[in-house]
Amino acid sequence: MPIVRVALDVPLSGLFDYSVSDDPVEIGQRVIVPFGRRQMVGVAMEITDATDMAPERIKPVTQVLHDSAPLSAQLLELLRFCSDYYRYPIGPTVLAALPTRLRSDKPLVAKPPESYRLSAAGSELDLDSFPKRKVVQRRILARLADGPCNLAQLKSLSATVGPQLKALLQDGYVEHCEAEVTVAEHQLVGAHTLTGEQQDAVDAVAAAQGYACFLLHGITGSGKTEVYVHLMHHVLQRGGQVLLLVPEINLTPQLEHYFRSRFPDASFASLHSGLSEGERLHNWQQAQSGAAQIVLGTRLAVFAELPKLALIIVDEEHDGSFKQQDGLRYSARDVAIFRANQSKVPVVLGSATPSLESYHNAQTGRYHMLKLSGRALASATLPSVRCVNTNHTVMHHGISENLLRDIEQRIARQEQSLVFINRRGYSPVLMCTGCGWLSSCKHCAGKMVLHLNDRRLRCHHCGYQIRVPHACPDCGNPDLHPVGSGTQRVEEVLQERFPDARILRVDRDSTRNKRAWQTMRDQIHANEVDILVGTQMLAKGHDFPALTLVGVLNPDGALYSSDFRAAERLFAQLAQVAGRAGRADKPGEVLIQTEFPDHPLYRALQQHDFDGFAASQLAERQMAGFPPFMYQAMLRAEGRQESEVFAFLGHARAAAVELQQKVEILGVVPAALPRRANHVRAQLLVQADTRKALQQFLRAWQPSLDALPAQKLRWSLDVDPQEF
Ligand code: ADP
Ligand code: ZN
Ligand code: ZN
Repeated sequence: MPIVRVALDVPLSGLFDYSVSDDPVEIGQRVIVPFGRRQMVGVAMEITDATDMAPERIKPVTQVLHDSAPLSAQLLELLRFCSDYYRYPIGPTVLAALPTRLRSDKPLVAKPPESYRLSAAGSELDLDSFPKRKVVQRRILARLADGPCNLAQLKSLSATVGPQLKALLQDGYVEHCEAEVTVAEHQLVGAHTLTGEQQDAVDAVAAAQGYACFLLHGITGSGKTEVYVHLMHHVLQRGGQVLLLVPEINLTPQLEHYFRSRFPDASFASLHSGLSEGERLHNWQQAQSGAAQIVLGTRLAVFAELPKLALIIVDEEHDGSFKQQDGLRYSARDVAIFRANQSKVPVVLGSATPSLESYHNAQTGRYHMLKLSGRALASATLPSVRCVNTNHTVMHHGISENLLRDIEQRIARQEQSLVFINRRGYSPVLMCTGCGWLSSCKHCAGKMVLHLNDRRLRCHHCGYQIRVPHACPDCGNPDLHPVGSGTQRVEEVLQERFPDARILRVDRDSTRNKRAWQTMRDQIHANEVDILVGTQMLAKGHDFPALTLVGVLNPDGALYSSDFRAAERLFAQLAQVAGRAGRADKPGEVLIQTEFPDHPLYRALQQHDFDGFAASQLAERQMAGFPPFMYQAMLRAEGRQESEVFAFLGHARAAAVELQQKVEILGVVPAALPRRANHVRAQLLVQADTRKALQQFLRAWQPSLDALPAQKLRWSLDVDPQEF
């Protein structure tokens, strides 16, 4: 009797055995099986004759689902690798990689065919007599007059094709058709003549036979995107698929539109968590069938089926959002590299400030280093970076007089300024001037942030919030004082100083509404804004041509952080915000307000010397025994009882020591935020000289972890952790 071994989304390790009835099962197919009292959707991973279970306990598969093609052996292998490497059960690993619709037992509804042509009425239509103001509809009609098109091709005509196409369908001028629209030649629009360095980069990647990993290291504006575009073109002409991973969901629609405009004939599929379930399924299937030639997405897209995969690009490879922070704690960049290796295709990691892991790998020859050393546009120069010593200047609630004067100049010249502060709210804490009371969160080890517009104190860790008290809860003193500045206060101070200036605050509070951010971007581009105040949301990837000044408030915290990656992240972030200034023909200026203007990190930034900064960081890391010279795993635990949390980690540590392997086992310590939402949090770090030694140890350690009593705790193992 054949047995099918099924991956199920249950928090248990291993696969589950079922018998197969008349309907044969293929590996990779979705099946519905009984589990406990429920029926669940799973994925058939193996088919065997043998099972350890007693024959009478084996239940039959309830139903084999045929509404979607089976998952490929390659994808299953990739998921098995991830499950093993990240020490996460195979079932949830496999199921989490699928769009929600494929995880449900409801039958999939087929989408109507995606191709369009003129109807009889449409063919007879005289375009000259068609209303002139219906610009997009006219464009669609003109295009379809040349022959059928698919949706992707039509989308390249305008950003609002969707509703206009719908109107034409309703009016009966356009109809669906079955025809598979194929494109023989791929047009690349607006290609630049590449610089020597760009051409070398393109040639090197295009010449790769099979797997090779490239680090494309080029400052912002050096033309990395242009290199991607040329490489994509190369792949499209050969009928391959490209996977392009980007860090930020907020950026994907913009990027998608950009790449669509460069490749009007290519078919795209985007994959990110902002899509509806239906869209996500559709796009996933477009990738799976090979119909989507360019798949653009955030980290989860690394698990898309790509039968014709020929190239992977990871843009902003250093970005922290490639790492998933719960469940399967994978790094999409690292999985992309594994996947490229598995599929024998090249992978390009692009960044202005590569992660030190990738940089080190490129220096030691495991990756190929490709450098773009200047800005691509001859007219665009690098911004000049200066430091203002906050101890030696007049400060106005966290903003220096120097910065205010510079902003004033920009307003006079009708240029934009950006004030960057990585803290939202009005001020990070409220203090009593009488007794020194601070607005601590009663559930966390952190402080409650003052939000003045709705007069609330909010904990950014657990979400707990209260009204701002009228007097000190401890001593009754009514004189409560906001300490420090967040975006709201900066906005207020600037508005007082520049009453006529148009100030726009961009942070998670002001962009909560989905459309808000898009509207703000349009305002910025239309030059309806003089001063931008924002958090890191503004640092990433946006191109604001009128922006010529960036002021950075109070970034010093990272210099004395206990997290050894804090300096690396700060450098990347500041280089990125600095890159926002002066992208067009106007030179940009960056002003960093700091107590340590001579700190080597700021020195390196001023000299645009990533290599020097990286060299000093790597030397420190090597001395201290940190990644990339060591490989780490973090065991984290949290629970209501401090004693239980520490007992669990203590036992885990003892079990680790007992294994006597070639790993260094550090002590059990409280987490950076030792209490969150009334849960005590602690951690245990393990590190080894090689990935292999660490993996071997983790495999041996896991069974003892699973066996430890931990009913009242939550714990997780994080391989290659990014946060401490
Ligand atoms: P990055 O991705 O490194 O930030 P981009 O690829 O966006 O840089 O290029 C920055 C600017 O330079 C863009 O406006 C782009 O059109 C232009 N550009 C890129 N390559 C060239 C080139 N070879 N010649 C002229 N302009 C270029
Ligand atoms: Zn008080
Ligand atoms: Zn809290």
